[in-house]
Amino acid sequence: MPTTSPPRISLAQLPTPLQPLERLTKELGGPRLYVKRDDLTGTALSGNKVRKLEFSLAEARAQGCDAVITCGGIQSNHCRATVIAAAMLGMKTHLILRGSPVDAPDGNLFLDYLAGARISFYTVAEYNSRRPEIFAEIAEQFAREGHKAFAIPTGASDAVGAWGYIAACEEMKHDFNRLGIAPTHIICATGSGGTQAGLTAGNAIHNLGAQVACINICDDDEAFQIKVREDLLDWKVRYNHPLDVEALPIHVIDGHVGPGYAQATPDVFETIAHVARTEGLILDPVYTGKALNGLIKEIKKGRFTSRDTIVFIHTGGIYGLFAQRKQFSFS
Ligand SMILES: *Cc1c(COP(=O)(O)O)cnc(C)c1O
Repeated sequence: MPTTSPPRISLAQLPTPLQPLERLTKELGGPRLYVKRDDLTGTALSGNKVRKLEFSLAEARAQGCDAVITCGGIQSNHCRATVIAAAMLGMKTHLILRGSPVDAPDGNLFLDYLAGARISFYTVAEYNSRRPEIFAEIAEQFAREGHKAFAIPTGASDAVGAWGYIAACEEMKHDFNRLGIAPTHIICATGSGGTQAGLTAGNAIHNLGAQVACINICDDDEAFQIKVREDLLDWKVRYNHPLDVEALPIHVIDGHVGPGYAQATPDVFETIAHVARTEGLILDPVYTGKALNGLIKEIKKGRFTSRDTIVFIHTGGIYGLFAQRKQFSFS
């Protein structure tokens, strides 16, 4: 049976730019740094999740669904992107959020409400232990109202969503040819593993010849080895793809999580401010700021050589920055 090609809906503004980070490269005196601007896949509908949702929501439509259920943290970029993309397609959304409701919703949560999401909040304990049941209850509720709901897992990180970054690798193949570069490393933040799974497979399928290494912003190396491998195996079976996913190395650069998910140390906020001023690049404290701060530390430690060329994928997340504005002081 040949490989099944997945349904896709165009949602992201593609291709995104690939730009040199000239001042940061010079300042660090090591490898050449480029940034793949996936923060520019759109405005409200932006970031890495949009690439995955092109496949997840196409699958939802193919199954005749007119509603979507997904989950995440209060400031989930994935939830915000899902709500907005669903609204663009005339679908309803119900979010399962981890945490308590707030008086004045900010950042992503504000946009979730603005774009009409129904939102239910759960304690960490309930979110972790009862999530499958909660998804089922909400799906039943939609069914009683005459809707058919499609469930998207955390971060759209599954076999379907993996296509987002497999396709991004094909796009980067053209970027690299156009710029005449042969990057040795592709680096990005990893949170639910789907971007990493897609990049790891896509790098092999499209012969990018780079090492894909992701900086975990929560959990640890082992957790991502398991999650990324699982997603890749599911993807291979589901689409009957010939790629030997068992043989693919999964590289995780651990040691930069800090206090925990969505919690960063002061140096991350300093890096965010520094990069905003020197490169005009706006990072976020949960993913991209933590990851680029980690990458800078690894460069300073000598992990890379000056012959290396690194592409850092800017996966978005700007709205999460507003919710942590109190971490910055300007005077
Ligand atoms: C979700 C997210 C990531 C991590 O992507 P995963 O596929 O969940 O690992 C990185 N950066 C931003 C801004 C995100 O929202």
